[in-house]
Amino acid sequence: MSLGENIAAVRARINEAARRAGRDPAEITLVAATKVQTSQTIREAIAAGITVCGENRVQEMSAHLEDDAYAGARLHFIGHLQTNKVRQVVGRVDLLESVSSEKLLRAVDAQAGRLELVQDILLEVNIGGEESKSGITPQEVPELVKTCQELAHVRLRGLMAIPPAAAEPGENRKFFAEMYQLYVDIRDNLADNGTVIDCLSMGMSGDFEDAIAEGATLVRVGTALFGPRPPLHRGGTV
Ligand SMILES: *Cc1c(COP(=O)(O)O)cnc(C)c1O
Repeated sequence: MSLGENIAAVRARINEAARRAGRDPAEITLVAATKVQTSQTIREAIAAGITVCGENRVQEMSAHLEDDAYAGARLHFIGHLQTNKVRQVVGRVDLLESVSSEKLLRAVDAQAGRLELVQDILLEVNIGGEESKSGITPQEVPELVKTCQELAHVRLRGLMAIPPAAAEPGENRKFFAEMYQLYVDIRDNLADNGTVIDCLSMGMSGDFEDAIAEGATLVRVGTALFGPRPPLHRGGTV
């Protein structure tokens, strides 16, 4: 299938999942996870209707930005971000989805302050409690939400999660449901002071329909759009 056909097929599945959940499909945004794709493929995806690209790696993103590959789409950063690389991301993306620690949060705020802008962010929650994954614990969420409120140069828009790789279909629904509860709690708590929390980013190629059933507003899809990725062996990190 062509990229255009894949995009149409994923959108049809999103719409169907929304309808099954009694939700308006317009509430759900498809984020194309473009890691390892070329600038040319990214341009083709945008020409075929992709409105948001999600990048994982700072270096790839910088190269694509130099190529102006994302023209016509919004850009999210969705990968693990080291504190010493915030300069290459803050102010260059519409949404930084993967703020995974207080240290990173403060570094993002400091850099946004230097640029005299406000960076939209999500807090990444390690919902499966996996050692190997970054993200704050569910218990840490209220404290970090409070910190966000105190910082002048970040605007919290919601939460993001990457649950454990599921062995069985449906296995991650409980994690998605937990994320939704955290999201609703924040949204309700902050509604009074005018803060709009409107992003819950969860669900990938293997489970985005379950994520939509549990309330996702952003689904990050790579493989179902672009096909399988080659295995990565870069500098010893997999
Ligand atoms: C690669 C990636 C995705 C998309 O994964 P697929 O299974 O290929 O759809 C989503 N989110 C993040 C953070 C990713 O790194």
